[in-house]
Formats: sequence, structure tokens, C-alpha cells
Amino acid sequence: MYIRTTDGPAQEPLQPRLGDTAISSREANRRFKRVAALVTEGLKTTKDAIPQLSANGQQELLRFMTSLLETYFFPRGHGLIEAQDEVLRQSQKATVEIPVEAKDGSCWRFEHRVRLYLSEQIGFRKRGDHYGGNFSSIRLFTRELHKTTPRGAASTALHEMTHMTFAMIRHFEQWLGTIGAEGGARLLSRQPWRLLDLSGFAGHRGNLERHARDLLRVLPIPMQAAELAASLVEEAFAFMFVVIVDEAIARLSRGPVLSSGFSPEQFIRDYVLERAFNVHPKLLKARGAQQIFQGMTSDVNALATAIRTHLGG
Ligand SMILES: [Zn+2]
Repeated sequence: MYIRTTDGPAQEPLQPRLGDTAISSREANRRFKRVAALVTEGLKTTKDAIPQLSANGQQELLRFMTSLLETYFFPRGHGLIEAQDEVLRQSQKATVEIPVEAKDGSCWRFEHRVRLYLSEQIGFRKRGDHYGGNFSSIRLFTRELHKTTPRGAASTALHEMTHMTFAMIRHFEQWLGTIGAEGGARLLSRQPWRLLDLSGFAGHRGNLERHARDLLRVLPIPMQAAELAASLVEEAFAFMFVVIVDEAIARLSRGPVLSSGFSPEQFIRDYVLERAFNVHPKLLKARGAQQIFQGMTSDVNALATAIRTHLGG
């Protein structure tokens, strides 16, 4: 597998604005620059920590993500979105390519395209999100991220890149179905892609689904319990991967581990925030939800432990 870009960096200057917009545009510009610098610096530290990771699969997965981020988006290449959703600058397009040989010997090429934007959009309290099916689009929200550290900013980028990698693998599997290739299945059985196979977590998914059914009775999340449970397993993977990377950075710098704990409440709150579901924070604090979180704790902890083992400790 290799990655390439299909178009050059798009670096048109921002349009000058008048009056109030000029001031907010100046501030937006400052935040764009700051977040780009934070992620760039954080990625350097993250890369230095790669040899500290205990398993080859982890190292390769992190190398894949950091190289994509550094080659195509940071410090240059990322797109910019202004407060009212307008794209000020298009993102460079990174294309992950996988050459595959079909059963009949014919050669095919799978492609997954990725774009990444720094976004000033208002109305979100989240730090980042990923959108995608047959392509991926990542947004990193500057109004939250400009307040964080290089490590914090890079963590958010890696979290969203984890969702991107899952989307890419799902897209690849779907595509494989259309060409009936065996080479692709072999590729998925190798590291680091094998890590993305969460079929071994069916039991955990089942346990979470029971809690998800309870949660959906008290929280207005527009999902079915099974879908929510599956999505929470991926969420736990993304969370745990970033924790493992953060621990490696802490070992390298002999500093503290910064990642927050993995309580069910935190987990659901972050998830609700990331997916921008309209759930009032009061509802998360209400007794009904708190009781469910309590009931979930041992299953969520068991899932976290299992994912750490799956990732190689
Ligand atoms: Zn997430």
C-alpha cells in the first residue's frame, strides 16, 4: 500500500474582508495558523515516540497516520473552512492506493481519498470529526483546538485518522466484494491492517448493546442500539490507540501521561460531542443516565483492556 497526492497544494491567500468581518477574520487567521503549528509540532513529538511503542502493528499504524498527515496536510496542504461553512481554501487530496490482483490475474487499484480541513465553524464544542464512506473528510475545529497543546492537537488529529482508517478498510472490503480478489483479503490479514478487524469483539459489542438500549431510552441519540454499540467499539479503539501513543510520548519525555480516564460517562460525552448529537449536558448528568453509566463501567473497562491486548499491550 502506498499513498500519493493527486493534486498540488492549494494555497490561495484568504480573501480580505471589511468591517467586523475583518476583525473576526484576523482572529480566525490567527487560530488557523496556531492550530496548524500545534498539530505540526505535536506530530514531530509523536513520530519521535514511535520506537517507544511496544508492538510492530502499533508502530506501523502510527507511521501510516503520521506520514499521511505530514505529507499532505501539515504544516501545509490542509484546507480552511470559515465560520459560515464556506471553504476558504480547498484541502489537498491524499489518495491511499492499494494494488490488488484479482482471481483471474487481472490487476486492480483501490483508492481511498482523504481531505483535511481546519474549521472555524461555529455551533460545535468538539475538537474534530470524520465524515466519510467512499472517501474521507476530517475537520479539526480551531475554536477548541487553539487552546490546547501540541500533544493535545496531534491526539485529536490521530483520533480522527483512526476513524478514517476504519472507513478506508470498510470501503476496501466493499470494493473487494465487487472484484472478488483474494490478494485483498490477504492484505487485511497482515499488520497493521489486521488491528482494524474488530470481529473478535462481538461479545463486547453484545454487552454494550444492552447498555445502549437503556441509554437510547434516556438520551435522544438517533441510532439503533446495535449500530451505537458497534460504533462505540470503534470509538474505544480510537481512544485506546491515542492513550497508547500518549503513554509512549510520556515514556520518551519522562513526563506525565496526559490522556484522560476511560469512564463510561466521559466516553459517551465525548462520543455525543464528536457526532454532534443534540443531547443536553444536563441529560448526561441526570440520574437515569448516571445509573446506566454505573452499570456500564465493568463492561467498558473490560472492553478497554481487551482493545489494549488486541493492540499489543
Ligand atoms: Zn471518535
